[in-house]
Amino acid sequence: MQLVATVLIDGASSKDLQFDYAVPAEWAGKAKPGMRVRIPLRNRQAIGTITAVREEADHPERPAGRGGKRTFALKPIAGVLDEAPLLTAPLLKLAEWISGYYLASRDSTLKAMIPQPVRSEEKGEKTRKNVRLVYEPDLETLESLKKRAPKQAELVEFLISRPGQQGLLADLTGLSGFGRPSITALEKAGMVVVEDEVVTRDPFADEVFVQSAPMALNPEQERSRARIVAAAAEAETERPPRPILLFGVTGSGKTEVYLQAIQRVVDEGRGAIVLVPEISLTPQTADQFKKRFAAMQDQVAILHSHLSAGERHDEWRKVLRREARIVIGARSAIFAPVENLGLIVVDEEHENTYKQESPPRYQARDVAVVRGHLEKCAVVLGSATPSLESWKNALTGKYERLDLTQRVDDRELPLIRVIDMRLETRKNRGLAILSSKLRESIESRLADRQQVILFLNRRGFARSLICPECGLVMECRHCSLALTYHREEDKLICHLCGYAQVTPRKCPECGGRAISLAGFGTEKVEAVLNEVFKGARIARIDTDTMRRKNDLKLTLNAFKAGKTDILIGTQMIAKGLHFPNVTLVGILNADIGLHIPDFRASERTFQLLTQVAGRAGRGELKGEVVVQTFTPHAPAVQFARHHDYTGFAEQEIQLRERLEFPPFRHLAMITSRSVHRERAEFSLQTLHRRMKRHLPDGLTITEPLPSPLIRSHDQWRFQFSMRGANAKRLTGHIGGVLGPLSFPEDVIVTVDMDAHNLS
Ligand code: ADP
Ligand code: ZN
Repeated sequence: MQLVATVLIDGASSKDLQFDYAVPAEWAGKAKPGMRVRIPLRNRQAIGTITAVREEADHPERPAGRGGKRTFALKPIAGVLDEAPLLTAPLLKLAEWISGYYLASRDSTLKAMIPQPVRSEEKGEKTRKNVRLVYEPDLETLESLKKRAPKQAELVEFLISRPGQQGLLADLTGLSGFGRPSITALEKAGMVVVEDEVVTRDPFADEVFVQSAPMALNPEQERSRARIVAAAAEAETERPPRPILLFGVTGSGKTEVYLQAIQRVVDEGRGAIVLVPEISLTPQTADQFKKRFAAMQDQVAILHSHLSAGERHDEWRKVLRREARIVIGARSAIFAPVENLGLIVVDEEHENTYKQESPPRYQARDVAVVRGHLEKCAVVLGSATPSLESWKNALTGKYERLDLTQRVDDRELPLIRVIDMRLETRKNRGLAILSSKLRESIESRLADRQQVILFLNRRGFARSLICPECGLVMECRHCSLALTYHREEDKLICHLCGYAQVTPRKCPECGGRAISLAGFGTEKVEAVLNEVFKGARIARIDTDTMRRKNDLKLTLNAFKAGKTDILIGTQMIAKGLHFPNVTLVGILNADIGLHIPDFRASERTFQLLTQVAGRAGRGELKGEVVVQTFTPHAPAVQFARHHDYTGFAEQEIQLRERLEFPPFRHLAMITSRSVHRERAEFSLQTLHRRMKRHLPDGLTITEPLPSPLIRSHDQWRFQFSMRGANAKRLTGHIGGVLGPLSFPEDVIVTVDMDAHNLS
């Protein structure tokens, strides 16, 4: 018998390469699926991942060419790189599902599942040199050493005085000022050893977490907790439980429910994964977990995009070594190799950040549901404004729904006032940034020493530079997008590709000198507030002011400590923040986003308004929200004003059903991109014809058109979409047509299944 491993080659460019290799006897039982191996490929060495191992009878004398069977001896694996599989068996199955469902190569799928620092061949562990005294000289020897080599003697005495009689090489030669030659001499004399010490990089190393005690739950929270715990227990039986949609208004204490359910799961020896939209945007959530599980801090791993490569490597390895059983992280944490998984929580499940916008274009919330099924564990999706996809699944009974209808301690939801900015603009004879109502409300909060959050979904100073004479709007040279004026840099900047240029003083098209700024962004709002509210302490949070790793945390901490009165920000402040002293939230322009050509525009606006409004009145004091809008009667605005998610969902669901959009159909967006406009367009048209030719029943296809954002990063973009109620049929058809096709080298065709971004 011969052991045969199927190996998926790393880094194959467009199509997956998978080959069989012989497993040499010495590695039998050591080469397992999910491990990486070195293999010969043509005339070079390559790296790959074992996807399966099987036993095969060996027939060395098998005749050539019969029945498509192998006719030559298999090449053997050259080396096994891992001591243990990087992917568990359910994760390997999950990889299969992802590459099938999202039409992604397996190579890109494995790349998404295993972080790069873990994949890279070198060990990745960070080591430091440590100097340890191994022979403590008696007084006599020390005296003679003092005469012979005073520096060495000094070092020996220093080491003797230190805990463990050792010190880091870098510290000794650095701060303490010992020379490297002295150390080497002592090493030769056998008095000290210089050894490598593995250091684990802990992203939270310099923070102290004080253990937080579980809170007494209110009856709704308790019912939800008990149900989740029961589902996790059921999961161990034959039939896995249904995913749970935890629908809880903002401030209803969802996090506390997760914390206590997880505690129980972990007490029973199982693991848990918690997904949050983006840790750097929700630092308070990660802290809550670190605090609650402070006593078992090593068992909590945090995985997110702002970790250094080394930190990510270490956190992930901690999970793989089964030291960490609770994983908190953004999207890709859904792939953490936690074994014996009991519970997966997806917090703020409606968030767009769960969708990855590069291959494999997976939606982590949906992947969580599939993983839950494969691992037979409980899955909880939590939100105050569930995605309509999840809402519909709850309506049809595919998901179980649990409700938290009350804020904790019976705090009231804030009063929401809608201000019609059309009237304000008329009153002002021009664009108003602050309505008189909002201005008065801010004044009264400042007088009462309460805090204010102002939200605006656009950074920069002015939205764009416009010439009133010829109508020119300054656009990016690489994208079809208006440039935004940033005052601090005095530049026009593209928010898509980052391109920046100096601000022209006259119109580059017609030479007109009346060229002027239109619209406003956070930078302008800050300037205006500083003028209007003299003496108020104002801070701004957007990607321009939050460049360094800890900026966000510092600004938020200062606000929490009451050192700031008004906080202005973009969506970076929309989520998950909890400041009890905030009694006023102003939303400066609720319309942004309503007018984009996207069937989810209304849903997104409703979610954003509700989430931002939810930042008000989270303490003892009642909250107020002022929403400024040019479309006060839009359903998204009106339902948000009445805190009526159910009403909003009901009418939006009807609309989607009538228009045959998600969640009633799956939608795949097919896009071609190229620096050559004609080639992008031509390739897409060809593809469109083929897709249309034998269109299976139940599938629909739109006409090929320029993308709403026709140019981005110098690439021209064209697109069409396909819809179908049956996902398998949809991907089956698309994959079947695309498979044998090839496009010119400079044309990129992408398929985005269950697309979120339609532009
Ligand atoms: P949500 O995520 O539902 O918006 P949070 O989880 O942020 O709400 O909870 C809001 C606040 O209420 C938090 O400060 C939390 O610590 C607190 N809280 C949660 N549950 C309770 C409870 N049972 N009793 C008192 N306070 C609670
Ligand atoms: Zn650009």
